[in-house]
Amino acid sequence: MIFADKEEYIKLRNEVHKFNLKELAPVADESDEKEAFPVSVLKNAGVLGYVGPHLPEQYGGMGDYYAKAVVYEENCRVCFGYNLSLNASDLIFANNIARHGTEEQRQKYLPGVIKGEKIGCWALTEPDAGSDALSIRTTWKKDGNHYIINGRKTFITNAPIADFFIVIARKPDSIKAEGGCAFILERGMEGLSTGQPFKKLGGRCSPTGEIVLEDVRISKEYLLGKEGSGFKDMFSSLDIERAYTPLSSIGIAQSCLDEAILYAKQRKQFGQYISEFQLIQEKLAVMSAELEVARRYVYHLIELMVMGKRITKEASIAKLFASDMVNRAAREAIQIMGGYGYMREYKVERYFRDAKLLEIGAGTSEIQKLIIARELLK
Ligand SMILES: Cc1cc2nc3c(=O)[nH]c(=O)nc-3n(C[C@H](O)[C@H](O)[C@H](O)COP(=O)(O)OP(=O)(O)OC[C@H]3O[C@@H](n4cnc5c(N)ncnc54)[C@H](O)[C@@H]3O)c2cc1C
Repeated sequence: MIFADKEEYIKLRNEVHKFNLKELAPVADESDEKEAFPVSVLKNAGVLGYVGPHLPEQYGGMGDYYAKAVVYEENCRVCFGYNLSLNASDLIFANNIARHGTEEQRQKYLPGVIKGEKIGCWALTEPDAGSDALSIRTTWKKDGNHYIINGRKTFITNAPIADFFIVIARKPDSIKAEGGCAFILERGMEGLSTGQPFKKLGGRCSPTGEIVLEDVRISKEYLLGKEGSGFKDMFSSLDIERAYTPLSSIGIAQSCLDEAILYAKQRKQFGQYISEFQLIQEKLAVMSAELEVARRYVYHLIELMVMGKRITKEASIAKLFASDMVNRAAREAIQIMGGYGYMREYKVERYFRDAKLLEIGAGTSEIQKLIIARELLK
């Protein structure tokens, strides 16, 4: 039996859904409009164990990757932007600490994130290095027992509000995957500054911004993982991130379908409910079929990840298919709702804007195709 059909996860799903309807749904539209992250929801979610459930129990988590999948999907049904920031903190930042950090680093950084009291971010992308991740120019050099970091990161989820940062840098003159290091930085360190949140199309309550690093000098306790293993560790963690990302598409597409059905059963044209028109029924049927196929594949993918299987190809397949699917679902939901769907007052307008990021972030659709082809041909 697949994890999502087990009683404990059905129960968890219902609980998270109830919490989100009570706490997140009422602030989702306003947070999007004001481009402000709903910090209080994160804190309340932390109290209930909905932040970092996959992280080890000794730091406050449940050590349960399936619970993380359930919470992730449910969050995205209500507010994708909220989950985008939560995920950058508890999955990308904290999971990297849990997987590659020392015991001291885990004790220092994980409990605050799991409680929802501290926010982390993870910074690879630079103004001239996006898909071509190995072309980053942020550098580290050694100065006795210290490291000095210089560079600039952009498009970083949570950068404007983060307490903690993981920054990927390379040794000057190193090539390809050599000389990579990950460092843990903290707000307030000399030489580290962040810019104002960027104005975005979607995921607007999730603050995205720049990080500027000017001679940031840190001792070796802030090195994450081994010196030189930064890129290798990064690629192994990216597979986990990409296994979860398609759940954003599943959550948003489910909400698109729910809203479209509700509307089609209420709206009358030509003297009948539009749900009675076969052209509308066809749209609902295709949305549902594509959603269910994607959902089951993504659950299967999460199970493969938990088993410790290599999921590079499968994660790319899931991300590619699900992001394409949700963009079609959001477009069709607006189409079913006509002019009303185009209005801010209706949620599908936000879902449509949110869905686009899923074809760009964590590796674009083009890059997913390249990965799938590379895996097939090797
Ligand atoms: C809202 C948001 C949040 C983000 N959060 C983070 C974060 O927290 N941390 C972080 O490090 N990064 C983050 N990113 C960055 C994100 O991962 C990059 O935007 C993404 O990897 C693409 O890089 P790019 O934007 O530089 O586009 P580019 O790499 O410049 O790509 C431009 C276009 O060229 C295509 N392309 C590039 N190379 C190839 C190729 N070889 N073959 C075919 N087509 C190609 C791409 O698919 C795309 O269509 C975020 C981005 C956004 C928009």
